Amino acid sequence: MYFKNILVPYDESDHARSAVHIALGLAGPYPEAKVHVVTIIPSATLPSPVLLGEGFEIPYAVGDPSSYEKIMQSVVEHTCSDIQDVIDQSRDDAQCKIVADAVIADAPVEGIAEYVESHDIDLVVMGRRGLGALRGMLGSVSFGVLRSVDVPVLTVK
Ligand code: ATP
Ligand code: MG
Repeated sequence: MYFKNILVPYDESDHARSAVHIALGLAGPYPEAKVHVVTIIPSATLPSPVLLGEGFEIPYAVGDPSSYEKIMQSVVEHTCSDIQDVIDQSRDDAQCKIVADAVIADAPVEGIAEYVESHDIDLVVMGRRGLGALRGMLGSVSFGVLRSVDVPVLTVK
């Protein structure tokens, strides 16, 4: 198998599901290949650890840091288990390794680009569009990833 580490950025859309199928179709026969199905959780969608409201001179901490960590951890675990369900439905008799992962990052494009670097990814397979309602050829995440990574990107419908 020419590609050893394939990243499928996954946002629960039908396009992303097709990307999972295609990546498993490519890597399935090769036990040495690994498919990473990964959701980026934008940090802005998570509850903030501090309140920066009007009238507060300094950030007001909500709860203790360890319970905040636990909330973040449970969001990540929940997302991974949703991805694992999709993998279990799609894997058939794939021989390759398949991992479900979820990463908190500033934004999806940055998170995907960092994952490509840190996990030695050599191919990205992703949907042309995602959960967004806008019509057109390419979503903003696909477009951003095409611009920001140096490895080949396969976009699918
Ligand atoms: P937009 O978000 O610009 O309104 P869209 O939702 O139709 O448009 P994109 O968000 O670019 O399109 O989605 C294209 C593909 O990018 C998805 O099929 C998926 O593979 C990937 N993707 C999008 N968001 C995420 C995310 N948060 N985490 C991982 N992958 C994502
Ligand atoms: Mg989107």
